[in-house]
Amino acid sequence: MPAFICSACGTQYPPSEASPLACPACTDERQFVPTSGQSWTTLDELRKAHSNKFRRLAKGITTIETTPAFGIGQRAILAQTSSGNVLWDCIALIDDATVDLLNGMGGVSAIAISHPHYYTTMGEWSHALGGVPIYLHAADRKWVMRADPAVQFWEGDTKTIGPNLTLIRLGGHFDGGTVLHWADWNEGRGVVLSGDILQVVPSGHVSFMWSYPNLIPLSAAKVERMAKILEPFAFDAVYGAFSGRNQIDENGKQIVAASVARYIARINEK
Ligand SMILES: [Zn+2]
Ligand SMILES: [Zn+2]
Repeated sequence: MPAFICSACGTQYPPSEASPLACPACTDERQFVPTSGQSWTTLDELRKAHSNKFRRLAKGITTIETTPAFGIGQRAILAQTSSGNVLWDCIALIDDATVDLLNGMGGVSAIAISHPHYYTTMGEWSHALGGVPIYLHAADRKWVMRADPAVQFWEGDTKTIGPNLTLIRLGGHFDGGTVLHWADWNEGRGVVLSGDILQVVPSGHVSFMWSYPNLIPLSAAKVERMAKILEPFAFDAVYGAFSGRNQIDENGKQIVAASVARYIARINEK
């Protein structure tokens, strides 16, 4: 039986004879069902028409993106850290070439995902990479559409997954919205891999939304809370979920603070 994948968002469902009736990730108010309707594919079909490209984004940071683009169009990131290689976020397509390349780069010791839009085929990735753990925040447990024994739910605001690697739950876009802080990246400059939780925007700032495609913002109180949780962490770079928009290579801490201030000034305007 095929494990169907939603063509709009990339979420994979458990094996079934017929395709699911709907995709809860798409019918959620944060997303949308395409005007052409919900459609489905499988990994076998995806592999026939797509492949993944690897690009070195910065020292120790490699992006993995599907071409032609599929689903939401996000990228996964391989972070080659002193405590092992972490796959940050996930994309739907996994194929033999991707596994060969990742193994050639030293393999993957853990997968961590910012929020449910990027859960996609996470179980397939874990199995192909040796059954590595997948760290997800427990607040988003109900959004796991295909359960997998590799998934390890964590609770609270932080989880250390290596000596200099911390998952930080900021919430916002999703209750369990998480970023990865890598403290000793690039001679201790520090980097935040931010997914959609701090959304890197064209001006070179970050912004915050409950729904990005439907333009539903977060309250000032929510964004203030996110900033407060992030406050103890030092970092220079911020890399989000999309290529070709912008990236923050330095002064990330100050830029995030300025981004929070300008967001709150605008959303509080009377
Ligand atoms: Zn969907
Ligand atoms: Zn999202």
